Amino acid sequence: MSNKENEKFDDQLNSTEKPREVVREDPLADTSGLLSEEIPSGVDRRDFLIRSAVGGAAAVMMGRSVSAHERTAMAIATLPVLPQAASTPPLSADLNVVKKEKGPVLTTADEFYKVGPGPSSSHTIGPMRITYDFYQRATKLPADKLAKATKLQVNLFGSLSATGKGHGTERAALAGLVGKEPATVDPKFLDSLRDKPDQTFQVKLGDKSIEVSLKDIIYDATKGDFKHPNTMTCKLLAGNEVLLEQEYYSVGGGFIEWKGYTPPKKNAPKYPYATMKELRAHADSNKISIAQAILANEMSVAGRTEEEVYAFIDKIINAMVATVKSGLSMSEDDVLPGPIKLHSKAATVYKRAMDEKYAADKGIGALSAFAMAASEENGRGHLVITAPTGGSAGVMPSLVYGLLEVRQIERQKIRDGMLAALAIGYLCKHHATLSAAEGGCQAEIGVASSMAAALIATAYGAESRVVENAAESALEHHLGMTCDPVAGYVQVPCIERCAFGAVKAWTAYAIASNEIASRHRVDFDATVMALAQTAKDMNSKYKETSEAGLALSVTLC
Ligand code: SF4
Repeated sequence: MSNKENEKFDDQLNSTEKPREVVREDPLADTSGLLSEEIPSGVDRRDFLIRSAVGGAAAVMMGRSVSAHERTAMAIATLPVLPQAASTPPLSADLNVVKKEKGPVLTTADEFYKVGPGPSSSHTIGPMRITYDFYQRATKLPADKLAKATKLQVNLFGSLSATGKGHGTERAALAGLVGKEPATVDPKFLDSLRDKPDQTFQVKLGDKSIEVSLKDIIYDATKGDFKHPNTMTCKLLAGNEVLLEQEYYSVGGGFIEWKGYTPPKKNAPKYPYATMKELRAHADSNKISIAQAILANEMSVAGRTEEEVYAFIDKIINAMVATVKSGLSMSEDDVLPGPIKLHSKAATVYKRAMDEKYAADKGIGALSAFAMAASEENGRGHLVITAPTGGSAGVMPSLVYGLLEVRQIERQKIRDGMLAALAIGYLCKHHATLSAAEGGCQAEIGVASSMAAALIATAYGAESRVVENAAESALEHHLGMTCDPVAGYVQVPCIERCAFGAVKAWTAYAIASNEIASRHRVDFDATVMALAQTAKDMNSKYKETSEAGLALSVTLC
């Protein structure tokens, strides 16, 4: 120290001035002051919290107490303000899909489990069902009208337009328009549309033939006042004159509606329920399982025999097994379509998992590989099964394949599991959504994982409370999951996410079957309500628009 500095130091030591009280009170005695005010809109939450905490800590170190209000102001002043996200367009109250909580669940298995081309139930299966429906309507027009027809045109709006190219929506829409059915279309036909996009086709409407091509499927406005984020119109034209026009909505899970849609009339269910609580009350008071209650309802609502219901369920089980087998058979060097250039990895993961030393590692690896195998089939645009959607098409098949083909559990138990899983999917559809465009990925992988948890618990003969608890747990731990497919392709994060959905379903079953069931604190109905509320509040950037999240942060080269 220099002399001058020494003097200054001595002065400070000898000073009679009362030293400033650094901290008069314990700053943690009243923590209310440490709690920040609500996070303002338009700023990054994480950045805001860090800056707010740092500002508060610095002030305390300097001997000042700072109110939450002051810290908020300080944090905002130093924050980069993000552009305001567009709010989610409200869904029209006319849509049946938003008329929630009206009466008992009446959905049936054949409406729910649908076979069709991937990669997305809302962006390929739904649009293909829509154009196939329009094609059939057009064929029924009077001959004199059809004689004038010159053109068929499909316009895609909202999310269908924003991410449709990545999903191959135009190819699916064209396939339906030329009269191909989603459940039976040869995936090679869709592949050929991708490989030779200039092909033209003749659509026969009565005596008239109209030429169509991919140019007739138009990617229209992405933003607007649409009744549903997945809106499309189909027109049959004679020059500028419209001979037939219909506005449609692909409302998730391959379900479709149209302007003026009224749900088909159905019979009353044997066990009417609108909540899991009511369904379990039926099951418990009649000493039957959830699966048996759903079977009885399938028979009464759709007027089918038990054999017919099981025949349909078997068809779906077999299709799920086939999709896993097909995915596992693909070459390890196979590259999925699209700009991501993603290599298939299901076969590699499966082979290597089999070399693991411990059985548990083998099991988790195999389950993940089965899920990715089916999901990669979805990414290829091959046939998948909605359970509940195309994006989540790896989750349920993974468990079905694992339980039936690997563990060789008897088929009847898998059938029961498929029926119990339906109850989960029905309730999520009834009160919330199955559409990523409405609710993000929690509505797809979250619901699929919850269905799969119910499947496992039922296949292992668990009582109804355990089935509910397993399904609840799997759904709960997907709440808030966003949808941000990279480049609009249902590949990243979707394929691996199916594996996580399958493994989480098993975790949910492991917890539910080993805990004391009556002590499970959260009931399924409460979690479905949370799903609906979270879907409502979620920023539209995270609802299958590829405007945020991984879709922004992953760079394609
Ligand atoms: S992120 Fe999830 S919801 Fe979105 S497309 Fe992929 S699987 Fe579907």
